[in-house]
Amino acid sequence: MSLKVLEHAERSDTGLVRPANEDSFLARPPVFVVADGMGGASAGEVASRLAVETFAAGLPPGGDPVERLSAAVSKANAAINAQAGDDPARQGMGTTVTAVMVDGGQLSVAHVGDSRAYSFRAGSLERLTRDHTLVDELVQQGRLTPEEAAVHPQRSIITRALGPEREVEVDSSVHALEAGDVILLCSDGLTGMIDEERIASILSQSRSLAAASRALVKAANDAGGRDNITVVLFRVGSGGAPLAATRPLARRSRAGGAAAPGGRRPGRRGLIALAAVIVAVLVLAGAWRASRGVFFLGTDSAGVVTVYQGVPYDLIGGLPLYSAWYRSGVPAESLTAAQRRVLLDHRLRSKQDASGLAASLERGELQR
Ligand code: CA
Repeated sequence: MSLKVLEHAERSDTGLVRPANEDSFLARPPVFVVADGMGGASAGEVASRLAVETFAAGLPPGGDPVERLSAAVSKANAAINAQAGDDPARQGMGTTVTAVMVDGGQLSVAHVGDSRAYSFRAGSLERLTRDHTLVDELVQQGRLTPEEAAVHPQRSIITRALGPEREVEVDSSVHALEAGDVILLCSDGLTGMIDEERIASILSQSRSLAAASRALVKAANDAGGRDNITVVLFRVGSGGAPLAATRPLARRSRAGGAAAPGGRRPGRRGLIALAAVIVAVLVLAGAWRASRGVFFLGTDSAGVVTVYQGVPYDLIGGLPLYSAWYRSGVPAESLTAAQRRVLLDHRLRSKQDASGLAASLERGELQR
């Protein structure tokens, strides 16, 4: 079946912590690209822009779509590497790149680094790329579970990027498309802050691609906005019929609805008492669950900045409601006053937020 891009929506946001946005993207159907740059003194911005400009200039001719996409990635790598060699301030600059192209009924993907491509079909999200990161290699070796990798403090260390080397190994793949498929490209500022379940739920509930892109960026910022966030979304179809702007991206299952008409109603008091019991049980269960689902930062007995699971209180009798989950390598005495205020306030955080904060601290990325 011949499919084409019917609509697309993009959004790129600096987030709440980084001073600048080093992500770049291109949305020029049938080609879409996300690049996440790295390197000091705005070099990351230069690297990601160079990558995107290579695609904007057009794919190298010849070969099938996936070969042309991969060739463009190699070309971008050479351009960034050459510029890094020319300018000492830009040495070591690099960028990820995830580039896709719709051709007929197929999606070609070429990719280096930890930006991702996903396909969203019938309410379920499938990842089309594998991260080139240290933690992903540990997952491949069976030394970490995917769940552990998703929140690992070192999860953003990448093992492959455009720029640092003259040659780069490009991963490529081809996927069959179906009418209605939504494709998402994103930088790790999205996937590092919210999990795939949340991404799928936002895509399911959004009324349009534009609304979905706004909601995804907002969710990443609400979770801490630790990094630049870029999302590129597009939907494919067989053309002709334009999509109604109000159609949800996926139908939500509808709970069986209306109350039976007539009939005897249970006593009002009985209902209130039942509701009170249900609420009490929910509150207790919620409180217990909540104490396992939250994290905070503090120092351990040796004065090292530590991520704790639980809430920062003891029960009567001294039983703590928390346990050490990750010890950073950073002693609290090395922190500036500003860092102390952010890090040691015992604020309750999500697992991703707390571990991301510890990772930023270890990489020296926290504002001093
Ligand atoms: Ca990033």
